[in-house]
Amino acid sequence: MKSSNWLWLTVLAVTVAACNNKSKESSEAPERTVFFDKSAMDTTVKPGDNFFMYANGAWVKKTKIPASETGWGSAYVLRDKNEANIHHILDYAAAHDDTTASINQKVGDMFKSGMDTAAIEKLGYDPVKPQLVKIAAVKDYKELVKLAADGFKTGDGFLFGFYISPDDRISMKNAAHFDQTGLNLPNRDYYFKTDSASKKILDAYVKYIAKLFTLTGVDAATAATKAAGILKLETAIAKSHLTPVQLRDPVKNYNKFTAGDFQKQMPDIDLSDAFKRMDLRTDTVLVGQPAYYKALDGLLKSQSIDVWKDKATFEALSGASTYLSKAFRDAHFDFFGKILNGQKQQRDRWKLLSEDIDNGLGELLGQLYVQKYFPPDAKKRMLDLVNNLQAVYKQRIEKLDWMSPETKKRALEKLAAFTKKIGYPDKWKKYDDVQISKGAYYQNEQSIAAHNYREMINKMGKPVDRSEWGMTPPTIDAYNNPLFNEIVFPAGILQFPFFDKDADDAINYGAIGVVIGHEMTHGFDDEGRQYDKDGNLKDWWTKEDAAKFKARVKVLIDQYSQFTVLGNLHVNGELTQGENLADVGGAMIAYQAFKNTPEGKSDTKIDGFTPDQRFFLSLTTVWQSKIRDEAARMRINVDPHSPPMYRVNGPFSNMPEFYKAFNVKPGDKMYRDEKDRVKVW
Ligand SMILES: [Zn+2]
Repeated sequence: MKSSNWLWLTVLAVTVAACNNKSKESSEAPERTVFFDKSAMDTTVKPGDNFFMYANGAWVKKTKIPASETGWGSAYVLRDKNEANIHHILDYAAAHDDTTASINQKVGDMFKSGMDTAAIEKLGYDPVKPQLVKIAAVKDYKELVKLAADGFKTGDGFLFGFYISPDDRISMKNAAHFDQTGLNLPNRDYYFKTDSASKKILDAYVKYIAKLFTLTGVDAATAATKAAGILKLETAIAKSHLTPVQLRDPVKNYNKFTAGDFQKQMPDIDLSDAFKRMDLRTDTVLVGQPAYYKALDGLLKSQSIDVWKDKATFEALSGASTYLSKAFRDAHFDFFGKILNGQKQQRDRWKLLSEDIDNGLGELLGQLYVQKYFPPDAKKRMLDLVNNLQAVYKQRIEKLDWMSPETKKRALEKLAAFTKKIGYPDKWKKYDDVQISKGAYYQNEQSIAAHNYREMINKMGKPVDRSEWGMTPPTIDAYNNPLFNEIVFPAGILQFPFFDKDADDAINYGAIGVVIGHEMTHGFDDEGRQYDKDGNLKDWWTKEDAAKFKARVKVLIDQYSQFTVLGNLHVNGELTQGENLADVGGAMIAYQAFKNTPEGKSDTKIDGFTPDQRFFLSLTTVWQSKIRDEAARMRINVDPHSPPMYRVNGPFSNMPEFYKAFNVKPGDKMYRDEKDRVKVW
């Protein structure tokens, strides 16, 4: 999926939890009756000084992050429960895999093949050897390009950041996209930073590269030389890459070329031959970042073919490492788990498998998941909530004092045109050509990769299918896809602490309500606002209104740039502006929608809190979490979302309703003067 307007970025890792084998029978008895845990609070903290710590401080003090995790909190607990549920499904499927055409066969045998570590161990890195042999046979860069292009059909493609997705300016038409690629660290900045924490990562990265070579029998000195050469090449590639902030501009990252003109950008790469090898038939391409392709053309010639082959070899091994024997898995974990994320030990294999199968066969697993774990009435409850928020959003746009009637009219059209997807797709994807067998984990993965490529490449020349989902049903997340003008809430997120059918409205509006408002606001954030009601990248703003929007967002960027983690590391206000805007808008809209409910209009306390207080406390439960220093550092560099504390304190510090609910006064640390508050949506 191209758009990154997720609720969160990270894959939440999961703790060790025994799989309890009682399947949840649908019953009338509520699963829980307490929805805000007072024992988490630290009432020595003034709510107006740090609301996150007021609500969660005691929990933060007493909670230890499990060794296998990069962080811990309420969403991780939900992830645990979700994975235990998936585990039941996988166990059941594995025991009932007798019909070759059945969903159970594919899902169950995939699970068996992944759990068969004895067979995997025996193979060592044999599964990758055919690709390594092909790389070794390459004689010059022209052959390298051929191999890179051939690889796409089997999931082994490289050099091109290629995918099919709608044309941003003609969103009903599929287009061939070429983005920057070629880096194995999270983004370009990692290659240039010189502070000690960044240097430690670079050193460990070089060691990781060398380690993979030595595991294939290369002597240590040669492996070290190869690793140094690869880092040098990647650093040269990184120079051509745009920064994460630059990637936020959809207009600058939309560059339409005829195939012929794209060819002229890189005269030494035979594009028509490459397209043929990729089964790509097209006259035009959308190049996200042309600078990368110009640089690639130069680097292919100027750098030795041996370094390029080393890089391809390393990438083949690294990309496959989690499917190979323990030595490769450990090497991968030592760098990506320990160094980048501070994880102390690897997660249980069945948990990794449940994630892997959700990634690879998500709409098969998803069918089994929603049958067992998604109550049909949840969909209706959720749709009501979404409609209530949409109605409030409409009123708020109508009342905006800074926007002209002309722009308002288009904003309202876009709001009314949102497609709402809840739970799971109406039409499931087919996996008929995927071959899964019990004892061939890596081959299974390859069959899925080949299927995914065929499914994608077959979209060329066909209209965009807007019924498609960008997340699987078990996913605990949500998204807004501006190209489809849609907001999407998979079944996985419709669980506590986000949503509970037995909770009062303050709790549900303060949690999933804010999530809904968040996703709606993405349609009107710095990126989303540039797409119209039909999902086309097309400016529908008057010049004056666009300038006013930017000035108002500048206040938000400056606010969040003041927030720090680990002492002195600042939140990147520019990188996180879209998510912060969505957080602020989400909280304001959800609050107003809550005030329309009977509870919102009453002043009856529950557990000692007023309805308004419960609304604000509910969001602190959603974001109740702590994270390892390494992971916090990485997220500041790559994550467009702010750290959890600021996803609570940031929005609320802009809400007079919050001030009133908790008696926040001038002088309190979160207090902002009226003129300094963010007022966009
Ligand atoms: Zn978001």
